[in-house]
Amino acid sequence: MCGVIGIFGHPEASNIAYLGLHALQHRGQESAGIVSSDGTHLRLVREMGYVSDIFNAERLAKLPGFAAIGHVRYSTAGDSVLKNAQPIAVDYSAGSLAVAHNGNLVNAEELRARLEADGSIFQTTSDTEVILHLMARSRQTTMPDKVADALREVRGAYSLALLSETMLIAVRDPMGIRPLSLGRIRDGWVVASETCAFDLIEAEFVRDIDPGEMVIIDKTGLKTVRPFPDSPAHRCVFEWVYFSRPDSTIAGRSVYRTRENLGRRLAVEHPVPADVVIPVPDSGVAASIGYAKESQIPFGQGLMRSHYVGRTFIEPSQSIRHFGVKLKLSPVREVLAGKRVVVVDDSIVRGTTSRKIIGMIRSAGAKEVHLRISSPPTIGPCHYGIDTPSRDELIAASQTVEQIRAYVEADSLGYLSAEGLRATVAPSQDGADGGELCDACFSNRYPIALVPPARLRQLRLISA
Ligand code: AMP
Repeated sequence: MCGVIGIFGHPEASNIAYLGLHALQHRGQESAGIVSSDGTHLRLVREMGYVSDIFNAERLAKLPGFAAIGHVRYSTAGDSVLKNAQPIAVDYSAGSLAVAHNGNLVNAEELRARLEADGSIFQTTSDTEVILHLMARSRQTTMPDKVADALREVRGAYSLALLSETMLIAVRDPMGIRPLSLGRIRDGWVVASETCAFDLIEAEFVRDIDPGEMVIIDKTGLKTVRPFPDSPAHRCVFEWVYFSRPDSTIAGRSVYRTRENLGRRLAVEHPVPADVVIPVPDSGVAASIGYAKESQIPFGQGLMRSHYVGRTFIEPSQSIRHFGVKLKLSPVREVLAGKRVVVVDDSIVRGTTSRKIIGMIRSAGAKEVHLRISSPPTIGPCHYGIDTPSRDELIAASQTVEQIRAYVEADSLGYLSAEGLRATVAPSQDGADGGELCDACFSNRYPIALVPPARLRQLRLISA
């Protein structure tokens, strides 16, 4: 997963991009970068780590100009190393160009094998670089035409911000799998993965960029084109369930309100007599509030989360069991002891965290622990940009709900139904723009076909 931002027509574009990246940090914590343009040159700073660790006044001063794009990365394709950090910037025959990508291309390996067989030399192992190679090879003459030419060959999920010396382009794949919104900042424009970035930089939300839409911004203003054949939208349902920040709005639907409603529906589908409803922080907070309201069981903060544990923390020894989870979460005995507890989380992936959390709640004296999940069982990996483990590591891909309940040692386990999820999130309701949802991780129905491994092996042989 990743987050992207683009600014055009602001004298401090890179500073604004930097601030916006703070609001998008939850979308990726491995690396971050900004490319700015002063009209004649693109300049790049990118590093591994958090936005706040990478950028300071000195580094931002090296990024002058009225336009910038920024990126936070959480790798789903390509290794987590500096050469794969984004934005990726290149010089080619038509000038300089930088790209920031949220999503995942399903035919990148196939395209890469073809391009390499034709002599292209890749600098990175990230799927995004194929877009730049395809653009460099395009016979079109304008940047928007080159972008459209390149993107007609790629398949998968992409919300992109591209920057040349004089132009910002924001484009969303025809299915609109990943979000991307458009806003105004003073006389300039901003695009960002999530609307929470607009709030932080005091930009005004204008609208979501439509699936399949390309927005072109230069000094003459903003134009919009739709270069791809129409295809039904398939917004990622997991953005509402887990990934986006609760203070964002996607397709006209508040992420917070949607999560609360998922919790309400969960309470209707899986009621249980209990004394307290607690969230797994932070992922289960809004849904647990919904569950508590609907069930009229009191809400409590039964688990405290430390916000100071970095991703890079290494367990010093095995002498304290479950050290990792204990470092992040601790139980509040006052809330849990002697109680029948409903604990709400958004999803179960491998089941390992849930098992440890339930053990923790019991050791704090809970009498019963009932686990409620505000989405259906996760049965398939995401191929469109969410970092999920392979199918064999997904507990629900091979185990029944009863087997999962036994593994996590809960007294009962209830998942939201697929119909419940769809009815609660479906963007066609409430006047938001229409379309389908991509729920492949819950249904195994993948809206974009994958390239079969046998064909990839063949292509690799050709390019070897
Ligand atoms: P697990 O113990 O493996 O079942 O992990 C479950 C926890 O992982 C839940 O608290 C989820 O909020 C969280 N989660 C779900 N999807 C992801 C993801 N793609 N990346 C990181 N955490 C996730």
